Formats: sequence, structure tokens, C-alpha cells
Amino acid sequence: MLLCFIIKRSFDKINKNMGFDVKNTTFFSLLDMVFPYTCRGCGRLGSVLCGRCKKHNIQASVGICPRCRKIIKRCSCIVPAYGFCYREGVVDDLLKEYKYKSVRGAAEVLAECLDAAIPDSVLEAEIVPLPTAPKHIRARGFDHTLYLVKALSRRREGFSVCRALRRASNDVQVGKDDKTREEQAARAYKASSACRIDPEKLYILIDDVWTTGSSMEAAIKVMQKAGAVKLASAVLLMPR
Ligand SMILES: [Zn+2]
Ligand SMILES: [Zn+2]
Repeated sequence: MLLCFIIKRSFDKINKNMGFDVKNTTFFSLLDMVFPYTCRGCGRLGSVLCGRCKKHNIQASVGICPRCRKIIKRCSCIVPAYGFCYREGVVDDLLKEYKYKSVRGAAEVLAECLDAAIPDSVLEAEIVPLPTAPKHIRARGFDHTLYLVKALSRRREGFSVCRALRRASNDVQVGKDDKTREEQAARAYKASSACRIDPEKLYILIDDVWTTGSSMEAAIKVMQKAGAVKLASAVLLMPR
């Protein structure tokens, strides 16, 4: 066990130095299967985030609406946005590992964070993943948002996955300026026939990061056009 721990820690270090090289994801996924996880908060062996660090992060989450920047209780946005925390610290590290190194064991913890961000008063909802660009799915070997949304649906009885959106373009938002992001987002999504929209139901659109909000706003417009009336959104991270 101790040997596993030492080897895993050394690989984690090499891994970090490599700057999350996507080409190595299969290799690291295999490593994750063979060696147990270490807590990204305190280094304890067992899971990607131990109970204590998880509790601390969930308690310290900001719970604000990234659109109006008010705490959730005070948010009066027509489509509220539930944000877990700022884009920094352990949850940010964990999300990067999850996305770029395919550390799938992080999905459960990240889903727990999303769960904590969505008010308990929301008993039933169709949770809709913002579709990832096919280019990213190919590079990462999995659709990280869909995987996260599925993990969230397992946590709340009244939540079911609804893939109401599909990708209409393969544009990538990372590294683009605000204006380009907005233009790209406007043509990024289309309604999908995979899930019929019911105006009576609540749809919560889920994404990992809120940067300028352009992706989320574009997705909301598509959902409204498709007939959705009750809408909300939830993200893990937002800029400070
Ligand atoms: Zn810990
Ligand atoms: Zn708001």
C-alpha cells in the first residue's frame, strides 16, 4: 500500500510538470485504475478529495449567481444561475485533472459540489448538459459534462438527464476574446430531438465553468425557442 502511494505521488508530480498533456490521458486513466487516489486537498490516500477536505470546500463555497453576482437567495434573475465557487483552489485543480487527465474519479466529487450549489428547494428537474465540442470529446476520450450530469442525476432522485441540446458547430471557446466567444456561442447549439421539451418542467442547464456567460446565455435562448419556460442554470466555477 505504501509503495502504491509513493509511486502514485511521484506520477502525480510528473503529471503536474507535464502540464496536463492530453495525449497521456489513457496512460493516466490506467494508472488511476491500478493505484488508489490521493486527496488533492491534504494528500491522504483513498479518494481524490477526502471527507474532511470535501466538507471544508462545500462549506466554503460561495453560492452566488455568476450573472448578477448576488448570493443565490438574493438573485432575482429570470433564469437564475447557481454557481458553486470561484475558479481557484482545490475544486479548480480537480476540474482540470478531471477534464485534461481523465481522472474520472473526480466526477462524483464535482457532482457533489454542483448538488450543493443547486438549492434543496428544487425537487424535480430535467438536467441538461451543455454539449461539449466533438474535438474536445475526441481529445479527452469522454464527454466530461455529460459524465458529470449523469453523476448529478444519481445524487438527486428528482433529477433526470435530458440531452435537449446538440452541438451545431465545432468552435472552441478557450483562448478567444469576449466578442468572438459571443459570436461563436450564438451558433454553437441547436435543439435536439432526443428530448421533448415540456413547458411544465424545469430545465437546469449545466456547464463546468462560467467565463463570460456567452455559452450559457446562447443555450438558454435555444431552450426557450424550443418551448422551455422554466429554466435555471448551474456551474461549478466562475471568475472572481
Ligand atoms: Zn483531504
Ligand atoms: Zn442572478
